[in-house]
Amino acid sequence: MTLLDSSPARLIKRLVVDPRFKDHPLPKKVAKQLGITPIFLTKDELIEETLTQEDDIFVTAKQTLFFTENSGQFLKRCPGSRHSLCCNYMTINSVTGCPFDCSYCILQHYIANNPFISVFLNRYRAIEEMKEALKTAPFLRVGTGELADSLALDELLGESEFFLSNIAKDAELSQKVQFEFKTKSVEIEPLLNAIKRYPHLHIVAGFSVNLPHIQKSDELYTAPIETRVEAMNRIINAGAKIAIHFDPVIMFPDYLEQYETLAKQLFSSVDIEKVAWISMGGFRYSHEMEVTFRKRWPDSLLPTGEMFIGDDDGKERYLATVRASFYSRLKATISSFYGDKNPPLYICMDKTFLWNRCDMTPPKAGHPHTNPFPLYS
Ligand code: SF4
Repeated sequence: MTLLDSSPARLIKRLVVDPRFKDHPLPKKVAKQLGITPIFLTKDELIEETLTQEDDIFVTAKQTLFFTENSGQFLKRCPGSRHSLCCNYMTINSVTGCPFDCSYCILQHYIANNPFISVFLNRYRAIEEMKEALKTAPFLRVGTGELADSLALDELLGESEFFLSNIAKDAELSQKVQFEFKTKSVEIEPLLNAIKRYPHLHIVAGFSVNLPHIQKSDELYTAPIETRVEAMNRIINAGAKIAIHFDPVIMFPDYLEQYETLAKQLFSSVDIEKVAWISMGGFRYSHEMEVTFRKRWPDSLLPTGEMFIGDDDGKERYLATVRASFYSRLKATISSFYGDKNPPLYICMDKTFLWNRCDMTPPKAGHPHTNPFPLYS
């Protein structure tokens, strides 16, 4: 079996290189791996060329890799949501865009302006930015999965090896950075190799999970949940930690038992001591996303639930009592695997009163890099 038979890399059909980087080794390597001849266009030329075609822009955007540079900051605080409690996670956007196609993905909103997957060739700057951040922060909990799937294209882009090898070269980064690769794929071979090469680093492979029928209907091209469980155990056996993200949780009345069943399956299948953290995030979306959502995903059940617009951030969410009941029951199910201990569980992008209603202790506010979870050795 070749790379093109099984991996999400097979979804990439077009390589475009910013002419300023025509001699850069990464696009050359990717072109060879995929057997695709790259073309050279500036960002504006690429946008114009893509928008004048008649093809479905969403399909084209997910099939096109554009190698360029990022002129802005790589390391940022996770944007969270206005007036929501933040877990002080930091993100590095070294790639923006994704070959997977999830009905609820916020990236759909940006595709009109950026109809491609951007790969930033100056990603080395992210290493310098982490060093700079550590001058004032005690440690960093950071990940690459905010505007991309961290591992879907790792065979091509070598993101895990790039970040971990550079962190390993620096004593302070090695000790104080906990790096998460968040994915809905099982593309873990490069990461497994990096875990073996840099066993002293704080590495977390975060797996987003959902009900199997949601994965099939609303998370196109992602790996089935049962294969993600196998991947979780391979990561654990290699010596790293995993994270489990229940996100987005779809809160229809008859789904609660299904999420409990999923949680039981997961936590009875992995060593809970190796779970660095677990998150729960209810389905939410911005009002602007609704147009795209209904147009692209007319059969999706997701927007058919009863949702209300928050007056703080204009996002649609389930009623707080519904969110509290789902979070509480999921928490109880997960806690049953932890005996007397509290699971390393947090609620993603929700308000403090929700934590209180679910009898969970919110992380301390204040310092920008406060982190509710300890570094694992
Ligand atoms: S895997 Fe993540 S980044 Fe990719 S389409 Fe789905 S939600 Fe978006």
